Amino acid sequence: MTNMPPRVRFAPSPTGELHVGNARTALFNWLFAKHNRGNFILRIEDTDQVRTSRVFEANLLQDLAWLGIDWDEGPGKEGPCGPYHQSERLSLYRTHLERLIAAELVYPCYCTDEELEAERLSLVSRKMMPRYMGKCRNLTAETRSRLAAEGRPAAYRFHVPPGPITFSDLIRGEMRFEGSALGDFIIVRSNGIPAYNFAVVIDDHLMEITHVIRGEDHLSNTALQLLLYLALGFEPPRFAHHALILGRDRSKLSKRHGATAVREFRERGILPEVLLNYLALLGASFGEGKEVFTTGEMIDAFSLDRAGKSGAIFDEDKLLWLNSLYIRKESPATLAGHMRPFISAAGYDHITEVRLHRIIEAVRDNLTNLAEIGYYLRVFDDNAYELSAEALQLLATEEAKKVMVGLLDLLDDLGKVPAEDDRLYGTLMPLMPEKTGLRGKKIFMPLRAALTGQTKGPELDRCFAVLGKSSLQHRLHRAIAATA
Ligand code: GLU
Repeated sequence: MTNMPPRVRFAPSPTGELHVGNARTALFNWLFAKHNRGNFILRIEDTDQVRTSRVFEANLLQDLAWLGIDWDEGPGKEGPCGPYHQSERLSLYRTHLERLIAAELVYPCYCTDEELEAERLSLVSRKMMPRYMGKCRNLTAETRSRLAAEGRPAAYRFHVPPGPITFSDLIRGEMRFEGSALGDFIIVRSNGIPAYNFAVVIDDHLMEITHVIRGEDHLSNTALQLLLYLALGFEPPRFAHHALILGRDRSKLSKRHGATAVREFRERGILPEVLLNYLALLGASFGEGKEVFTTGEMIDAFSLDRAGKSGAIFDEDKLLWLNSLYIRKESPATLAGHMRPFISAAGYDHITEVRLHRIIEAVRDNLTNLAEIGYYLRVFDDNAYELSAEALQLLATEEAKKVMVGLLDLLDDLGKVPAEDDRLYGTLMPLMPEKTGLRGKKIFMPLRAALTGQTKGPELDRCFAVLGKSSLQHRLHRAIAATA
């Protein structure tokens, strides 16, 4: 087995939007598979009929595709170990349950939810760890038949032997759990649906998973799962439990800390590569002070023992910083592709590619997220931009007027000379000091205010290039009129 290419899996339950913590688990598995030339399997854990939704599943697949995390086997990519939805594997779980029943390693449990809750409360009130105390473990055959005849539904519990359960975690080292502290756990519910710990063992075994990489919140599940591997005579995979993403208060990152779903970050205009890069970086997975990694570099540098050892605080400011860094170096065409939903939302579906690329080039140093493009599309639209109160205030001086009138004169003097947009700034601006008797800021500030309606924004030369002669004239006239 050691020389076989590794097989890893990401096994989400589609009961909500994809959380960045889970996306990070998917990424670690994916990087591990790529680094080791192994296979990455996507398995949908959809046995919870109440909480599972097809919409969440569709969103999940879309989010993974957006992130560029693809799978070798899974939904839409059937392979030898399918089906890849747990809901389509129920007969497999049934067969394995029967084996465990025959071997008397599991027993039917008739306790009702009320009885279990009462037991839990009683243990808690006595300051004992809540667990199943084994009420149904030693029922006689007669009692079982009687309860079954009464129509009492039975769940199946695994009889946990006392004694230690140990394993060597690839990230955390030697782990040890005490069987006596765990309590017999349910492997199949009374409605016949397998519990997570049971289904996952059968699937990981049948799908020939070699490494299970998941969050450390699953550590105690691993102890239970190891008992099932042993009971079923399966060779267990290697386990690696990475630390979780934390909020600023060092508790597990959750909604009360702000955005947590991959979808939310996409909607806020974060580039997919940036989210991947940031998630990989969290917890110093790669270290060495380097912060920007291409996917190829992430694959090369990835190693489990460095990944996710300590809990890392999710810092949205850092994510935005990384986003602006990427936006600066990405080509306008690529950015335009990612910006489509924001362009649509702002109502600029019909903008030409050429104009869009010009605007992106003009403003990308000012962007921290892609959604901000909507604002700049309006700034450069003669019918949509507005003169802000600050801009009007700045333009209300005699000097400002001189600057506006000065540039308007120079534009008029261009006469019929075809206005080469890219050259306007270089041609006209050197003439402005002589024309107005002013220089530096006294020229730039009023011009930015008059031409964009704002006191802060992209560099002026870029604004000239986007606006061109007629928009420049239109805007100067408007600003002069507004301050007259
Ligand atoms: N469906 C489980 C979850 O989403 C999978 C955990 C595992 O990787 O085993 O938490």
